[in-house]
Amino acid sequence: MKYCKNCIMPETRPDQYLNNAGVCNGCLSYDYQEKIDWGKRKNELLRIINKKKLDKDKWNCVVPGSGGKDSTYQIIKARELGLNPVFVTASTCDLSEIGRKNLENIKKIGFDVIEISNNAKVRSRINKIGLELLGDISWPEHVSIFTAPVKFALAYNIPLILWGENPQLEYGGPDGSLNNSILDQKWMEEFGGLIGFRVSDLIENHSFKKNELEIYDYPKEDILKKKSILGIFLGYYERWDALRNYEVSKNNGFLAYEPELEGCYFNFEKIDNHQHGIHDYFKFLKFGFARATDQLCYMIRRNKITRENALELVKKLEGKYPKSYMGKSLGKILSKISMTEEEFIKICDNFTNKKIFKTDQGGKLIKDDNGSLIKLKYDN
Ligand SMILES: [Zn+2]
Repeated sequence: MKYCKNCIMPETRPDQYLNNAGVCNGCLSYDYQEKIDWGKRKNELLRIINKKKLDKDKWNCVVPGSGGKDSTYQIIKARELGLNPVFVTASTCDLSEIGRKNLENIKKIGFDVIEISNNAKVRSRINKIGLELLGDISWPEHVSIFTAPVKFALAYNIPLILWGENPQLEYGGPDGSLNNSILDQKWMEEFGGLIGFRVSDLIENHSFKKNELEIYDYPKEDILKKKSILGIFLGYYERWDALRNYEVSKNNGFLAYEPELEGCYFNFEKIDNHQHGIHDYFKFLKFGFARATDQLCYMIRRNKITRENALELVKKLEGKYPKSYMGKSLGKILSKISMTEEEFIKICDNFTNKKIFKTDQGGKLIKDDNGSLIKLKYDN
């Protein structure tokens, strides 16, 4: 397992590659962003908005999101751009208390919020299938956060959807994906974290009824086109910055999780769903890195921390067996999807890349007293 020489990202990350000098495409993408003419892109955005001839007396822009620091920033920004936005969220799978407070805060600071809530019975069945089959408990959340706001825009004839970050621009992605300004079904299927699993698979292979999955169904592209509904990344038109978004949101009442968040370096991301701990743990089992690595790479690229310090921190923070997340025990989190901890551990072991972790001579994973694995290699 090789690591980027500049940051601490391993090459196991999907869509990641290291160039001949050993530098990852996330770092290269960061350098590329420095060269973008952001003023020109901002004008492009204003032109798109003007061309749409939006009705100022109605909601004329959907801002989708979970209610986090990016969501709060996006909706404030949308109003600054002269839009009349409505915030649309598909609630997270296991909404935390602080996640609820931050959603309420968006209303408090003067915006309309539409909350689309999924059938909890159907959703927890999909959570379980996602975890067993894909090693991703959050599959239904990944889907509905992309589908529900588009469905809402279609139902209310709202011609613009202002998404946030283009993750490929921040973390690196395949050629062509960096300069993509549009979020559509094709993008969602390739980059939305669906892992090649489709809604139709739930019907064909897992005995779901079509009418149980309405919320997860992406509207037809030709209908969206006919109605001139356009989904764009704000992160294409202005430089995205997680810390700046947090600062702006904090100044507008957004709350971080105190004192610190399990497995993370930042305490202001991934605080709206108790299942995030499990989601990130599976990323660690499959690829040998998780949330703290992402966040520390962000800090290294901006010269806010040295690579050496980041390595020390990541060893301490990342990859622990997720006994709890934001004050809720693993047992309680799993009971919501009718799963025992024994079943959970078996699934964990199934999805663990044994090349990355310490095993005994018979190839059995070695764990410490807390059930955590031992990662073999943190650096080149
Ligand atoms: Zn790098």
